[in-house]
Amino acid sequence: MCTPKSVGGLNLINLLLWNKTTIAKVCWDLAHKEDKLWIKWINAYYVKQQQLKDMPIPKQASWMVRRIIASRDILQQAQSSNDHIGTIRQLYLQLLGDLPRVSWKNLLFQNSARRKTVFNLWLLLQGRLPTKDRLVNWGLNINQQCVLCQGHVETRDHLFLLCSYAVMLWKQVMRWIQEDQSNNHNWDQHLQWIINKAKGKSSRASIFRMVVTEASYALWMERNTHIFEQIYRSSEVLAREIAYICNVTVVPRARKQMQQILIVE
Ligand SMILES: [Zn+2]
Repeated sequence: MCTPKSVGGLNLINLLLWNKTTIAKVCWDLAHKEDKLWIKWINAYYVKQQQLKDMPIPKQASWMVRRIIASRDILQQAQSSNDHIGTIRQLYLQLLGDLPRVSWKNLLFQNSARRKTVFNLWLLLQGRLPTKDRLVNWGLNINQQCVLCQGHVETRDHLFLLCSYAVMLWKQVMRWIQEDQSNNHNWDQHLQWIINKAKGKSSRASIFRMVVTEASYALWMERNTHIFEQIYRSSEVLAREIAYICNVTVVPRARKQMQQILIVE
């Protein structure tokens, strides 16, 4: 969660790392901004003629001063030039390290679907939803059969793409927004197709992002209500509900286009 959106995170601040970074920045100031009064004081009392980078940490110093000097290791870890380390945020990003970028980050940006459904999509894209195959891998002794079709092992790819129930739902939802995803036979194809369609700032791309997000959430909730409440709804009913929710939550600039295509048979 605490990584930039470009690498699949939610861009939340890792407070522990941020705290370490700010102390490291103070350590850098200690070595480079000798004109400040508090730095002059620390240099006069503790650093003296020694080099900050390899001097022993003074035992008689306060806890705060010892923490500042000890954070020289973090500066080295960041492999920054001692001449310039930039802002605290730049140092923080450096300490986070180089993480591989994800191709699906645009699906989560500017997505006007409900927040909980966007979060569900984020988990889905990373394969982190607790589908039955994952629960079995964690050691749970459960029936692995998909509850929506009773015919296959429940995996992410099955539940959200290959299941006969999911196939029907996608068909109905895509017919509504005049798209055709019938050529997607595996998860990678499905994902790439969605990424391409959701690209851009047009109203159509915006509607597409929202519909895919809401439909994925609806599938997951349908699976859950089937398991935990023994309630079953047909894919037609679910498709109508998705259409209704999208029509209510769509951003104003895309509402006109949404109403033009809102023909659910
Ligand atoms: Zn199924």
